[in-house]
Parts: sequence; structure tokens; C-alpha cells
Amino acid sequence: MVQLAEVSWTDAQKLFAECDTVILPVGSTEQHGPHNPLGTDHLIAAAFSREVGDRTGVPVLPVVPVGISEHHRQFPGTLWVPPDVFRDYMLSVALAACSHGARKVLFFNGHGGNTAALVEVAGALRRDYDVFAAVLMTFPPGVDGHAGSKETSMNLLYHGHLVKMDRAVDQTQDTHLGPLPMTGIGRLGPMDFPWDTIDLTPTGVLGGAGKRIVSTTATRKTGEEIMGPFTEEVVKLVEAIKAADADELLSKPHKAG
Ligand SMILES: [Zn+2]
Repeated sequence: MVQLAEVSWTDAQKLFAECDTVILPVGSTEQHGPHNPLGTDHLIAAAFSREVGDRTGVPVLPVVPVGISEHHRQFPGTLWVPPDVFRDYMLSVALAACSHGARKVLFFNGHGGNTAALVEVAGALRRDYDVFAAVLMTFPPGVDGHAGSKETSMNLLYHGHLVKMDRAVDQTQDTHLGPLPMTGIGRLGPMDFPWDTIDLTPTGVLGGAGKRIVSTTATRKTGEEIMGPFTEEVVKLVEAIKAADADELLSKPHKAG
């Protein structure tokens, strides 16, 4: 048992004595189309972390369920915190784990909107606190849009009872912001603008401007095909990080020193 929330402090003492690596799952609570649960990103992060934790023996901290999601705010149920609050909170949780002996912190992140902030937190841990930290997106690159068939398939794999496939939609994305053609998510030609999901899609099934994002073809089997090889790859990497001496992973001293 390596879920920190499910063991006593006496068990935790043993866990931290035996392993100086922890997994910290984090996601979001935000709309994922009419068919997926609001918790999609943190539920996937938690389920994937549990599997990797069980297979590697690395303790898994409780999932952080709310992240940087203000761009989904027009859809009921979406929750968010400002990026600076999120960074401070994640750093504090990581440092609390480090006070018990952790020296390597792996953020297992289910929500793309959190990634930049988490990389900053990992940078602070490595540079200012002598803690190795890294950020993993809890699904492989190339997933076809937010709430599309691949993400929906992952939900079917991990918690299928929460998916309402009879409400799944294939959504063509809007092409214009007022009179201006959009060239991607939050893109006007070479310019970025602070986009909202609703600028592109009325249902929340989201992808690049003008694209058709399909979610109706999702299956549990696709979820297995996506996550199977990825899980094997991550388990190997986490085992290697667990076995590594933390001192060898920290920032190198200044050359003049
Ligand atoms: Zn998502």
C-alpha cells in the first residue's frame, strides 16, 4: 500500500525511510464536454499514479484536484485557482513531503494548463531546495484534443461508469474571433491571445480552430492501447529515478566554486 492518504503515520515513517521518491498527482476540475466528468484530469492523474505507485513501490501523495482552468469558466462546474496560488500550493505540498525525507518529487499532471507552472515549481525545488523534481503529463503526446476520443477512451478505461457515451459529440471548432480568423487554439496568425474554450466550441469538446474533434468513437480498448505501452515506459523511468542517488540529480555547483 503506497497511497499516503490510506496509511498511518507509522506506516509513512517506514515508507519515507525506504524510498526518497514521491509521486504527487495533480489535475483539474473543469468541463470535459457533455459526456465526461468534470474531474477527468485529476481522476486520470490519480488512477495512473496509483498504478505506477503500486508497481514501483513509490509513495503516492493525495491528488490535488483543482488547477489552472480559468479558460473553461463559462462552463458550469469548472473550478480554478490563480497560477501564483497554484505554484505556491504545489511547492508547499512538495516541501512538506520533503520534510519527511523525500528528495525526489514527481508531479504526475493530468491537465496541460498546469504544466508551465509545475515546471517552474520543479525549477524552484531543484535550484533553491536541493530537491530533484520533474513533471510528467499522465498520457502520451498526440492526444487529439480536449475531451476528444482519446481522452474519453482513457476515462472509459479508468472510470467508465462516469462517462455518458450517449451524450458524446463530434464538434467542429469555430474559425473566427469576431472578424479575425483563428489559426489554432489562442492563435491569430503569429499572435497569441488569452483564449477561452468557448471561443472555439459551444460543447467543450476542444481542439484547433476549424478542426473537427471526434469523441463518439471512444472505447475502453483504445484507452488500453494508449495507456498500456505508456505505463510500461513510465514504470521503467520511475524505477530508474527511485534507484538513482538524489545528489547526482541536483543542480551542479557554480564552476567558480
Ligand atoms: Zn483533460
